[in-house]
Amino acid sequence: MMEQKSSEKNSRAEKKSSVIIRNLSVTYRTEPALWNIDLDLPDGKMIAIVGPNGAGKSTLIKAVMGLVPITAGKVSVFGKSYSKNRNKVAYVPQRGSVDWDFPTDALDVVEMGLYGKLGWFHRPNSKTRDLALECLDKVGLSDYAERQIGELSGGQQQRVFVARALAQNAQIYLMDEPLNGVDAITEKTILSILENLRKEGKTIVMVHHDLQTVDKYFDWVVMVNRNLIATGPIKEVFTKTNLDRTYQEKQRMSIQ
Ligand code: ADP
Ligand code: MG
Repeated sequence: MMEQKSSEKNSRAEKKSSVIIRNLSVTYRTEPALWNIDLDLPDGKMIAIVGPNGAGKSTLIKAVMGLVPITAGKVSVFGKSYSKNRNKVAYVPQRGSVDWDFPTDALDVVEMGLYGKLGWFHRPNSKTRDLALECLDKVGLSDYAERQIGELSGGQQQRVFVARALAQNAQIYLMDEPLNGVDAITEKTILSILENLRKEGKTIVMVHHDLQTVDKYFDWVVMVNRNLIATGPIKEVFTKTNLDRTYQEKQRMSIQ
C-alpha cells in the first residue's frame, strides 16, 4: 500500500535540517526515556511532537539543548553543538516544570530571555525593555508587564514564555506544550504568531497533546514512544497505524 511505504520510520526530509539527532539515548535512572533516536527536524516547518505521557517528548526537546544527560548519541544544531548555537534556539518549557515562586514580574521573565543573546556583561536597558514590552504586547499581555509571574493564570504564564521566546528572535522555537491550559482565543493568538514565524522561515517544534488538531496546525510530525515510531509530513505519516503503534503499551521490548 502506498501509504505504508511512505510512512516508513524515517521519511526523508524534503529540505535542509538544522537539528540532526543521531543514535540518541537518554537514561535518567535505570530505564531509558529515549532509545536510539535518529531524527532530522526540517527547517521552516511547523513540527508536532506527539506521544503518550512519559513517552520522552519533553526529554527529546531537552536533549537538543543538552538539558538532560545524553547516554549515547549526538545532537547537532546548525552543524555544531547546541552550546555554540544557543542564540539560534528559543525554548518554552512545559508548564509545571518552572518554579513560579521566585519574585519576578512578567517583563523580567521576557527580558531574561535576552541575556543569552546579550552576554552577561550587558545589563538590560531601555532597548531590551522596549523589545520585551513589544513581545508581551504581541501575546496580549502588555497590561500585565509588572504582574508577579506567580500571580498570573496558567494560560497567561504560558503566554509570557511565548513572548520570551519571541524576544529571542531565534531560528528554531522549541516549545513544550505551549497550548496546554490556554483558552481558545489564546490558542489562536499563539498559533497565528507561530505561523508568522514559520512564514519567515523559522522552525517551530512543539510538543502537542491534542491529536484532533495535529493535521490542522502542523505540517510535520514526530511520533515518539521511547523509540521514534515515525516522522515525516503529516499527510504521509500521521496514520492510524502509526498512532496505534505510538499509543500502544509503552515499548519496553527493545531493551529487555
Ligand atoms: P513526556 O514529556 O513525553 O510526558 P518525559 O520526557 O517528561 O515524557 O519523561 C520520559 C520518562 O522519563 C518518564 O518515564 C519520566 O518519568 C522520566 N523522567 C523525566 N524526567 C526525569 C528526571 N529528571 N529524572 C528521572 N526520570 C525522569
Ligand atoms: Mg512532557
